[in-house]
Amino acid sequence: MAKIQMQTPLVEMDGDEMTRILWQMIKEELLLPYIELNTEYYDLGLKHREETLDQVTVDAANATKKYGVAVKCATITPNAARVEEYGLSKMWKSPNGTIRAILDGTVFRTPIIVKGIEPCVRNWQKPITLARHAYGDVYKNVEIKVPGPGKAELVFTDENGNETREVIHEFTGPGVLQGMHNTDKSIRSFAKACFNYALDTKQDVWFATKDTISKKYDHTFKDIFQEIFEKEYKEKFDKAGIEYFYTLIDDAVARVMKSKGGFIWACKNYDGDVMSDMVSSAFGSLAMMTSVLVSPDGFYEYEAAHGTVQRHYYKHLKGEETSTNSVATIFAWTGALYKRGELDGNAQLCAFAKKLEEATLKTIESGKMTGDLALITTLDNVQKLSSKDFILAIRETFDNLD
Ligand code: NAP
Ligand code: MG
Repeated sequence: MAKIQMQTPLVEMDGDEMTRILWQMIKEELLLPYIELNTEYYDLGLKHREETLDQVTVDAANATKKYGVAVKCATITPNAARVEEYGLSKMWKSPNGTIRAILDGTVFRTPIIVKGIEPCVRNWQKPITLARHAYGDVYKNVEIKVPGPGKAELVFTDENGNETREVIHEFTGPGVLQGMHNTDKSIRSFAKACFNYALDTKQDVWFATKDTISKKYDHTFKDIFQEIFEKEYKEKFDKAGIEYFYTLIDDAVARVMKSKGGFIWACKNYDGDVMSDMVSSAFGSLAMMTSVLVSPDGFYEYEAAHGTVQRHYYKHLKGEETSTNSVATIFAWTGALYKRGELDGNAQLCAFAKKLEEATLKTIESGKMTGDLALITTLDNVQKLSSKDFILAIRETFDNLD
């Protein structure tokens, strides 16, 4: 059979450790035999980030702006141990942070639902998509360790030099201080990204902050969402039969646990960081969570929600067999290929992406899976496969479909 052609390159960002190994296997076994893969390749592996003084990350983000769609492998965010391990000249920033800072936008994380992996929360019947604001708050904070007594103030100086001041605290002894910010522009694009995604996927949006306590900061988020919803989306939502619902974050957490699922939960940056891990592990596994960064300008970057699975990589390096789940990484590829196909009007590419997803889920449903899923599945007759054998099993299912 002739391979599927691609008109526009997909931006490919390679990564680190075990996911880098999976990346190669996925390409060799599941993509290259079927597609004339047209990618612009950026190696975000830590070694190459060091060699390029992290310029490669910036280049990859800019390429995403140029072409519109990217797929990214998990990457190491350096800490002190990694600086030593890789002999880094600098503790390079998180690639995801760098990419988000360039593209702006919102991260949508959705669990992959498959028969035989049941959520811990019995009443969750449909996936809950977590929409995480990817800019500002505590992720762009400044902090001071207060050594002893003194007055802490919040000062804003406008362009003309006029100052607005608020006393934060009169310290009588040592303590800590933190300043953070967000911008109306970023909050607006967050709101729009959530509402657009809701219309795309025909799901309600829930949004929650702590506006009763944070009467200016969080309240601004609430007000901007409400204003944009009423001005630009209310009619479209009515037509689509979906709703926008605002509540307090603690109330939202309680309601989410009692819900049936099937909605988008919009969270501020920190809430989204924390809650997405809760939602994904309650749905079964961190290895079954997809993630897409949607920028306000319509750029998309797809990845798995988990990290580089370091522990498995060290086993792999020792020559031991691993059973690392490649599903979220496969779905990062299929998500990106589908979006590329959609933008280029390439129906064959879209159909391929859907078929590969179907083959992946069918493989698990037939009892063939990696160790993380074998531990929690409700299926009988389970075969725990190695990283490679699982990918080969998917290929076999794929070839026998239709
Ligand atoms: P991790 O790679 O997500 O793995 C944590 C643990 O979760 C693993 O040890 C494994 O548990 C389980 N796990 C995660 N993904 C799995 C998969 N696909 N299949 C099977 N089990 C899976 O997190 P980490 O070990 O804390 O972080 C490793 C590196 O990843 C760090 O350098 C971090 O900076 C980076 N990271 C990158 C991203 C990203 O690029 N998006 C996100 C998070 C972390 P068991 O060991 O019990 O089998
Ligand atoms: Mg996190």
